[in-house]
Amino acid sequence: MTAPTRIPGRRLLHSPGPTSIPDEVLDAMHRQPMDLADPRVSESITACEDGLRWLCNAPADAGVFMYAANGHGAWEVAIENLLPRGAKVLVPGTGHFSDGWAAQVEMLGRRAVRTPWREGLPIDPAAVEAVLRADTAREIIAVFMVHTDTASSVTSEIDAMRRAIDAAAHPALFVVDAVATLGALPIDLQRQRIDVVVGASQKGLMLPPGLGFVVVNAPALEVSRRNDAPRAYWDWTRRIGGLPYQKFFGTVPMHLMFGLRASLGLLRQEGLENVYARHRQLAGAVQAAVEGWGEGGALGPYCRDAAARSVSVTAIAATPVGGFDPDALRTLARERFQVAVAGGLGPLAGKVFRIGHLGDLNAAMVLGALGGVEAALVSLRVPHGPGLRRAVEFLARD
Ligand SMILES: *Cc1c(COP(=O)(O)O)cnc(C)c1O
Repeated sequence: MTAPTRIPGRRLLHSPGPTSIPDEVLDAMHRQPMDLADPRVSESITACEDGLRWLCNAPADAGVFMYAANGHGAWEVAIENLLPRGAKVLVPGTGHFSDGWAAQVEMLGRRAVRTPWREGLPIDPAAVEAVLRADTAREIIAVFMVHTDTASSVTSEIDAMRRAIDAAAHPALFVVDAVATLGALPIDLQRQRIDVVVGASQKGLMLPPGLGFVVVNAPALEVSRRNDAPRAYWDWTRRIGGLPYQKFFGTVPMHLMFGLRASLGLLRQEGLENVYARHRQLAGAVQAAVEGWGEGGALGPYCRDAAARSVSVTAIAATPVGGFDPDALRTLARERFQVAVAGGLGPLAGKVFRIGHLGDLNAAMVLGALGGVEAALVSLRVPHGPGLRRAVEFLARD
C-alpha cells in the first residue's frame, strides 16, 4: 500500500514548538521578497522591535536583536555578548534545557556553575541564593534562568529568582530564557527587573522556526560593550544602526519579519490579559485530563508541584507499574488519530510524552488532541481513568 499523499482534515499539532501557525501569519508571509532598501522591510523590522519591547514591557532604550537562528542560537547570543572567555555564569538546574544551556556555555570556553535540578520541581531559590552569597569575589557575571523547562514542563518563578539574587545582594545580570513562555505567561523586564530576555519564533509567537531574538536593557548592553571576547555575527554593538542590512549582519529574513509583525498584531488584538487567561484555561483542561487518566495508575503528571505546572506544555510520565511505552503511544496518536504530541528529551527520553498547549489554540483543538491521546490509550490498553471527560467538565465550568 502506498502512503496516502494527503490526510483529510488537519493533523493537530500539539508539540511545544513548533506550534500551529495562524492563517493571518501565513498570509502575511505569502509574498515575494523585497529589495533591502524597500521601506516596507525597515518598517516591518521596526514594528517587530517595538512589538517585542511591548510584549515584555521593556524600557524604550532596550535593544532588540533578532537573528536567523533557533533558540539555541539565541542562547549563544547571550553567552557571546555577556561573558568574556573563562567568565562564570550561574545556570540554576531545571532539567534538560538548563543542562543544554550550561553545556553550550562550556563549549564556548566559559564556566557554568550549576545548581542541581530536582525531579519534577522548580528551581530552588535558596540554592541560587547560597551560590551567589558564596561568590564573594563577585566572579559570576550573570544568572541564566530557564523560565519553563520544556522537557519537564515545570515553570520556575521569575520573581522568586529575582528575590534570591537581591537577597544575596549580588550584581549578576538576570537573563531569562522565555522561549517557551513568551506569549503564554507574563514577562516584564521592568517590573521583574530582568536584564535580558531570550526568545524564539516557533512557540508562543506562532511562527515558523528560524528566528531567535533577545531583548536587552541598557545595563546589559553596557556589559557587552566592555566584554572583549572576539565575536562577529552575534555581536550586539555591530548590529546597532539604522539599516536593515546592519541590524541583521546581512540579508534580513524578511518573511519572518512579516510573520512576526502579524503575530504580534494578533496578540495585541486579543489583548495580553486574554492571551494569558486562555493559556491558563487550556492548560487547566489538559491538567484535568491527565489527573483523570492517572486514576488508572499507569501515568501521571511529571511535575510534582501543582503550582509549578506549565501553561505551555504538560509532560506525562508512565509510572513503573503501568509500564507502557510513551513513544509507541505517540506514534499511534500521530499516525492513526492525527494528533502529534512530543516525546521525552534527554534523561526523560522514553519515560514521558508531552502535550503542547501554547500558541494559536482554542478549546476544540485541545479537546481534539486529548481525544486522540485517549483513543491511543484505549487502543494500547493502557489502564486510565476519565481524562477527556474531566477536560470537558473543566472547560464547561462557569
Ligand atoms: C525550545 C526551547 C529552546 C530551544 O529552542 P530551539 O529553537 O529548539 O533551538 C530553548 N529553551 C526553551 C525553554 C525551549 O522551550
